[in-house]
Amino acid sequence: MSESKGIDGDMINKPEFITLSHGAGGLLSQQLIAQEFAPLLARAGQPLNDAAVITLGGVRVAFSTDSFTVSPLFFPGGDIGSLAVHGTVNDVAMMGGEPRFLSLAIVVEEGFPTADLHRLVQSVAEAAKRCGVDVVTGDTKVVERGAVDGLFINTTGLGVVYEQADIDPARVGLGDAVLINGTIADHGVAVMCAREELDVGGEIRSDSAPVADIVGKLIEVLGDRVHALRDPTRGGLAATLNEIAGQADVMIRLDESTLPMKPQVVGVCEILGLNPLQVACEGKFLAFVDGAAADNALAIMKSVTNGEQAAIIGEVTAVGSAQVQMRTALGTTRLVEMPPGELLPRIC
Ligand code: MG
Repeated sequence: MSESKGIDGDMINKPEFITLSHGAGGLLSQQLIAQEFAPLLARAGQPLNDAAVITLGGVRVAFSTDSFTVSPLFFPGGDIGSLAVHGTVNDVAMMGGEPRFLSLAIVVEEGFPTADLHRLVQSVAEAAKRCGVDVVTGDTKVVERGAVDGLFINTTGLGVVYEQADIDPARVGLGDAVLINGTIADHGVAVMCAREELDVGGEIRSDSAPVADIVGKLIEVLGDRVHALRDPTRGGLAATLNEIAGQADVMIRLDESTLPMKPQVVGVCEILGLNPLQVACEGKFLAFVDGAAADNALAIMKSVTNGEQAAIIGEVTAVGSAQVQMRTALGTTRLVEMPPGELLPRIC
């Protein structure tokens, strides 16, 4: 073990080996980025957002990449092909980008059924068409049997940032409203049930879906009154809200009674001992908007496909202390902490 500075400046230990928790999107993922990647690769002051915003020929472009290793490859509500499109398209949208182009890189092992590969590529093509993006470049690698678990996918996405967009978590401030476009924890629970072949008395489906249309409409109407956007994938709402609270140095208060959740998903979380706030979504995003525009934002989200169940779930109640609190259904207040490590491996 050796010591180095953590994201918050604390002295933290460097692990000797990578663990599953380093990929879970929580505290250990942040520490790995701070220790091994940022010092060598990041520009000074570069924020860690869903996508980078770069300027090319005077045009702001949102640029994001993501690898997908979900197990099983096919699950209720989606598969690794559509997930790889939605995941990257959504990350581009989270920086105010209108997704336009994708790359597709596949690592597949020998012995993988060609029929399954065909199904997955078809799923990529259908999802890309729905999202209005073109897959313009790609790569295929085949490795020995057992070297990957079936098939992994990487996608990279590019989109032009809307002219009127000014998305920056640092812009989140006092009185901002927090909105979400629908129910939480569906994806993680659906994949978990499929992997473990749990019979939960009815199908729980992943929410894997694009959110770019909702984002486009929000920015079109509200412009720079949309301050920050982030999709609660790995680590769920708990990780995402804590990231934003940290970047903006604000206190966020959630109201549990307003959180959209499917009773069946809540039930499975209770049985498995999972905190739904820490379980991944794959077709949801959080929007931080000027408090005065909250009702307008809600109406806009509800008017677009995949936003029908949108809700205002919280607000920024103070500045100068990064924290997430939740007012529970019982009227008490509790802290919502950053998940430390691995909860559900290989869900995306
Ligand atoms: Mg993201």
